[in-house]
Amino acid sequence: MSTVWEDNYSYTARNVRPSPVREMLAVIKQPGMISFAGGMPAPEVFPVDKFYEGAHVLKDDGKNLLQYGTTEGYAPLKEFLASFTAERMGRTVATDEMLLTTGSQQALELFASALIDRGDFVVTENPSYLAALTTFYNHGAQFLGIPTDNEGMKVDLLPGVIEKARAEGKKVKFIYTIVNFHNPGGSTMSLERRKKLVEISQRYDIPIFEDDPYGYVRYEGDHLPSIFSFDDKGGTLYAGSFSKILAPGSRIGWVTGNKEIIRKMVVFKQAADLCSSPICQSLVYEYCRKGYLSEHLPVIIETYRPKRDKMEECLQKYLAPYGVSWVKPEGGFFFWLDMPGIDSRELFKKAVEKKVAFVVGTPFCVDEAAGIDKARLNFTFVQPDVIEDGISRLAEAIGEMKA
Ligand code: PMP
Repeated sequence: MSTVWEDNYSYTARNVRPSPVREMLAVIKQPGMISFAGGMPAPEVFPVDKFYEGAHVLKDDGKNLLQYGTTEGYAPLKEFLASFTAERMGRTVATDEMLLTTGSQQALELFASALIDRGDFVVTENPSYLAALTTFYNHGAQFLGIPTDNEGMKVDLLPGVIEKARAEGKKVKFIYTIVNFHNPGGSTMSLERRKKLVEISQRYDIPIFEDDPYGYVRYEGDHLPSIFSFDDKGGTLYAGSFSKILAPGSRIGWVTGNKEIIRKMVVFKQAADLCSSPICQSLVYEYCRKGYLSEHLPVIIETYRPKRDKMEECLQKYLAPYGVSWVKPEGGFFFWLDMPGIDSRELFKKAVEKKVAFVVGTPFCVDEAAGIDKARLNFTFVQPDVIEDGISRLAEAIGEMKA
């Protein structure tokens, strides 16, 4: 066997972890499988015709769009976003306070490049978004996980955690938080905690990465102002995405923040991919410019809310009797189940035999133990008429484990 690769792998490559979700998605692609596993939007809400309507931009401006674009992003789309997000951000941000990225996943990568040195610590909710944990881990980060409740991260615990870490000589580089309809936890950070988090960030000089791909997918209640809007010192970077409000295939996200950090991320993006696709950016802009995005949001919300409600009704009926509980998500894509006494990895095996799939809790947690009796269920991708069948199969699997 050739050692030419083995001997030459980087330190990171030797330690890299494949995404358990992506690997699992392959396993569960069997006929008849009801999958609550992925985190995908429902294809039936993709606005194919309206999106296609913008294809004329290739004729109108093809000579520019087929060329390399600027690293910072397609200016008209940035201007649209500055005004679209103004309410949430507390003001209309300047275009040099914004960078368009290849999905918000790239924002995580660029931010990690800009901030993390091997051995640094990152504060996250525990559980947290798997691919963010992996990105930070690949850059050499270690984690300080903060538990959550129905108001999001328990920010009151932060000063103690930060002070202890610092006393032990640990460098705490940033706080990563998913403020709205957490993936996987489902909770939304309360207004009070948002303000408190900014206060803590400023007190300890630790910046915040506010990840908000689901924020506009709210099924009830009022939208809350972003953490960014409370941060008068510029220490918060906000990341948004078109993946959940339009289409993940667009691969367009954005970050808003202080010019200094944006500039650093631009320099890393120059090396990462030169620029995001001008064609995609202009197609997305064309769609948004016509007001279609604002018309489309209610369609998404009206499609997903009944699915969420149906799933919750079934969870109450079939899983609550086993002591399973959850935070009701006011928006977003997921239920996070707390299943005392049930090992989700064992449950997964039984569930797959019964042709229902979900994601086990462990990979979302910074300490695996915290995730053993947890499971993430997605409700946006499945058709509403299979939700009951899927949840009752899960209950059967739990019943057999308890027997
Ligand atoms: N952050 C969170 C919390 C997510 O759930 C996701 C996608 N599932 C992303 C970032 C990345 O999304 P994208 O790159 O498609 O914008």
